[in-house]
Amino acid sequence: MTFEHARSKLIQQLRLEGIQSEQVLDVMLEIPRHLFVPENQLHFSYEDTPLPIGLGQTISQPYIVAKMTEALLEGGPLKRVLEIGTGSGYQAAILAKLAEQVYTIERIQTLYEDAKQRIASLNIKNIELIYGDGSLGLNKFAPYDGILVAAAPEIISPQLLEQLADGGRLIIPVGAAFDSQDLLLYTRSGNDIKKVCLEIVRFVPLRHGVE
Ligand code: SAH
Repeated sequence: MTFEHARSKLIQQLRLEGIQSEQVLDVMLEIPRHLFVPENQLHFSYEDTPLPIGLGQTISQPYIVAKMTEALLEGGPLKRVLEIGTGSGYQAAILAKLAEQVYTIERIQTLYEDAKQRIASLNIKNIELIYGDGSLGLNKFAPYDGILVAAAPEIISPQLLEQLADGGRLIIPVGAAFDSQDLLLYTRSGNDIKKVCLEIVRFVPLRHGVE
């Protein structure tokens, strides 16, 4: 089976699993996930599963990427988006097709460098990659219409909510490391913050400092 064929089968599966946004499904059909996974995982590129990307980290499961992206988009058009935990760069590439400008921060230098190269070779121009600790967000470019956190803290830091624009959305897995977590969606309107739990998930832990 070609990668293209496998990719369109995956998109079909995501639709059956309940992803409704045609925008999200179209973008996931367009972005070649196999260019974001290590060579020894290529065969699994279009399985609906997370995959190891080295250094104890993973590229997220496609269903979860779709679900998180869909939840951000439901708030309306996205101008500025922050992703915390660049990893392979796959989620950032998806977001870049749907938002005007994406900022993505990664604390492991080799992952940051590899992701930067991939994004450049795909000629995606509206992603700014940052090497650093994003556990308190990234105040420099705030406020954001959307913040997507791809690693799980045990508790949410208030700085993340403060960096949301009015009407902005934050999606984040919260819970104990190496256990299941709640995938939470926070929506800000004025000083009011609404929170809902979308799924039970399993993300790698959000850590402090850089490597
Ligand atoms: N979005 C990624 C999946 C990343 S896995 C993708 O599409 O491939 C989570 C990533 O978060 C890991 O690469 C990990 O190193 C990173 N991470 C964990 N804590 C972090 C922090 N405080 N700041 C920035 N990145 C962090």
